[in-house]
Amino acid sequence: TGKSAPRRLSIFGSTGSIGQNTLNVVDHLGGRENFEISVLTGNGNVELLARQAKLSGARLAVTANDRHYESLKSALSGTGIAVASGKSGLMEAADREADWVMAAIVGTAGLAPTLAAARRGADIALANKECLVSAGDLFIAAIREGGGKLLPVDSEHNAIFQVLEESQRHAVERVILTASGGPFRTASLRDMADVTVETARAHPNWSMGLKISIDSASMFNKALEMIEARHLFSLRPEQIEVIFHPQSIIHSMVGYSDGSVLAQLGAPDMRTAIGYALSFPRRSNLPVERLDFAKLARLDFEAPDEVRFPALRLARLAMTRGGVQGAVLNGAKEVALEAFIEGRLSFLAMAEVTERVMDDLAGLPPAAAMDDVFAADREARQRAAELMTLAIAE
Ligand code: NAD
Ligand code: MG
Repeated sequence: TGKSAPRRLSIFGSTGSIGQNTLNVVDHLGGRENFEISVLTGNGNVELLARQAKLSGARLAVTANDRHYESLKSALSGTGIAVASGKSGLMEAADREADWVMAAIVGTAGLAPTLAAARRGADIALANKECLVSAGDLFIAAIREGGGKLLPVDSEHNAIFQVLEESQRHAVERVILTASGGPFRTASLRDMADVTVETARAHPNWSMGLKISIDSASMFNKALEMIEARHLFSLRPEQIEVIFHPQSIIHSMVGYSDGSVLAQLGAPDMRTAIGYALSFPRRSNLPVERLDFAKLARLDFEAPDEVRFPALRLARLAMTRGGVQGAVLNGAKEVALEAFIEGRLSFLAMAEVTERVMDDLAGLPPAAAMDDVFAADREARQRAAELMTLAIAE
């Protein structure tokens, strides 16, 4: 009686912050002894992707950008690791056999490959929240169709997943998403008017990719997470609360109809959520910092301010309007965020542009298929770009 076959893993977005943490967790849990790496994907960081592929013994390495195909190919020549690129390469990645897929591509680019992997039946460890924000119903349907598990990796949703007993789902009254408040929690609107990328990206507690760090400062990250929670846990919009909790020790909570509130606590380290998603339904020993409550001494809470952080209001608007408003919010926000990063738009104008686009596109019909989601996303991006040109021309 030999050992059972190792679990096959794919990591979409392996070169990013979540992707690197995932490879770190895999290493800690025995690496090639216990797992077989099917596919790794990256974008521009070819050198890192090639090194990861060699170290992990991946079968296939994919760069999302066709221009990097040749350099990835030459970096991996003689290793026997297959190479692919572009959108078709990402779809090939999704088609490869894997029992578990970490979906950690940033933004809408992750949608098509993650959906395809879900349909094929892989368990999906979901970091890419945009999948649920833009295409929630279709994505949940794809998971059902494939029969795999959906394992939330976003720390808040992972926390809820950890404390939400399936048998007690009927008694869930509310979920309470915690938010650190980011670097501008106590800043005045005046101060926020002229913040720079450098101050916006400096998250007080978590070390993350650039875009999600800025989204955390504007609360757009929390806005996406409200919509994400709605789809993950089949909640009504009014069941989703947000509370500022500057220490980021409580990662989120579930409130039940008997008045009990259950919380998951831990050091702010994504490897806990990643490890939980990898080991579920068991738990593994992870090399994360253990909480010392005497040292922590206190946990603080503050009501969030929707005037200084309009993104939270926009999430509620998107949820009540329904249809493709999630895709529109996300598409418009991504364009505004890129403009902010490139210095073409002010920090506060990101929410203004997003709200205008949501209003302008409130009449779009609900999505019957993924193409409708992509169309809504494209329209939102175009409209956001138009609005910004107008504003600059004024
Ligand atoms: P990141 O920017 O560090 O990494 C993104 C990954 O996606 C990289 O591997 C990059 O090569 C790849 N990528 C970038 N553009 C691409 C494109 N056009 N096509 C295909 N691949 C592309 O981002 P991250 O912080 O690791 O976040 C990844 C996802 O996880 C995001 O959806 C984010 O919201 C979510 N998330 C991240 C954290 C965190 O702690 N970093 C926490 C919760 C959720
Ligand atoms: Mg989160």
